[in-house]
Amino acid sequence: MDSGLKIGVVGAGIMGLSTALWLQRDGYDVTLFDRVEPGSGEQTSYGNAGILARTAVVPVSVPGLLRHVPSMLLDRDGPLFLRWSYLPKLIPWIIPFLRNGKESRVRQIAGALDTILGDSVDQHLALSKGTAAAALIETGNYAYVYKDRAGFEKDAWGFALRREHGAEWEEWGRAKLLEQDPNLGEEAGFAAVLKDHGWIRDPGAYLAALLETFRREGGIFNLGEISEVLPGAERPSVTVSGETHMFDHVVVASGVWSRRLAEKLGHKVPLEAERGYHLVLKNPSHMPPIPYMLSDAKFVLTPMDGGLRCAGLVEFGGVDAPASDAPLRIFERRIKRIYPTLTWDGTESWMGRRPSTPDSLPLIGQSTKAKGVWFAFGAQHIGLTSGPKTGRLVADMIAGRTPNIDMTPFATDRFDKA
Ligand SMILES: Cc1cc2nc3c(=O)[nH]c(=O)nc-3n(C[C@H](O)[C@H](O)[C@H](O)COP(=O)(O)OP(=O)(O)OC[C@H]3O[C@@H](n4cnc5c(N)ncnc54)[C@H](O)[C@@H]3O)c2cc1C
Repeated sequence: MDSGLKIGVVGAGIMGLSTALWLQRDGYDVTLFDRVEPGSGEQTSYGNAGILARTAVVPVSVPGLLRHVPSMLLDRDGPLFLRWSYLPKLIPWIIPFLRNGKESRVRQIAGALDTILGDSVDQHLALSKGTAAAALIETGNYAYVYKDRAGFEKDAWGFALRREHGAEWEEWGRAKLLEQDPNLGEEAGFAAVLKDHGWIRDPGAYLAALLETFRREGGIFNLGEISEVLPGAERPSVTVSGETHMFDHVVVASGVWSRRLAEKLGHKVPLEAERGYHLVLKNPSHMPPIPYMLSDAKFVLTPMDGGLRCAGLVEFGGVDAPASDAPLRIFERRIKRIYPTLTWDGTESWMGRRPSTPDSLPLIGQSTKAKGVWFAFGAQHIGLTSGPKTGRLVADMIAGRTPNIDMTPFATDRFDKA
């Protein structure tokens, strides 16, 4: 089918690739732009923990978070880092972020997140069906591991909220955990094992495989820096490396860098980089049978093709600051507490930028300032999970099909009014 319409997609992380593929399947003539090849380490979609976190409806900002911030910052093994010189720039973002941690607001946010996460494993399977990417998806359980039951009970509120949105889990004591994974140390005394999740065994290879499919089906990938997306009198355009390309529609899916492009269109987009890290332990002596969220340490251990990936933590310091060393040292120290006998023979380290809004919800939909320009960014900690669904929603709306979920929480102009 050839609809005759031309669509440009700016950004080839999981959001852009998913959107481009669904648009291509709808018969559009799609050009995908990025300054890097998909699957490269500059992309947030490359280095994440790989979890298809379909029940991650509880945002980071929850009741009581503020109380814990000082101890998280002061603890040398804590999950939160701040470059203090960045604090003045962070304040306009962090105040509404913390305000959104009120219980009533968290409930609304969880409800909205559920609409883009609930069927996310199936969305990945549908997106990748018939492509080389499909072989990189594992389906299975995902365990939140605690030192003891008391630790889990401190998270009871969040788990109850997950249950309201369909999460099911089994509770395992240490004996059952050791049956499945005899290498676990004393720090693993209890787990809530969430059912029917999934993970990607190599997110970089997954992106590269999706690009290969897009190209094979006739899509054009244009490597270059996009300086501008403009509405135009008739049709929107993309300027790349000094050349202007006209389209019938343009989708901005540029992760944390979308802010600059959206602000040029006249939108207010308080998008902040929640920087996160990974350390891959190559050729590890053992790996967990399923991914573990180390709930006290606040990072994930995922068994991947390239080794055991430790990924997570949060650092505020802006988009462009260089990577820090301290988060990587935490991975090394804490992994030894979970797996005291673990050995490995090399590491790969990485820093990425979660594109985060103060209300923990992405912007998905048509710009109210520029007809024909669409947004698909801002999915904070759950962008890998929600990418394929987001791409499908954008494709539906461009085709004039009404999405079967309420799109209001994701409105592109909701921060303009603030
Ligand atoms: C440590 C860590 C762990 C995580 N774990 C998980 C997880 O387990 N599960 C999960 O669901 N999510 C996870 N996430 C979050 C997830 O990785 C992100 O939400 C997601 O990757 C965002 O995808 P994206 O396509 O919006 O952005 P990106 O992957 O960053 O892609 C944006 C693309 O736009 C391009 N671009 C931007 N501006 C321009 C320009 N001007 N010109 C040309 N190209 C441009 C960039 O080069 C880039 O390729 C994690 C994140 C981190 C940091």
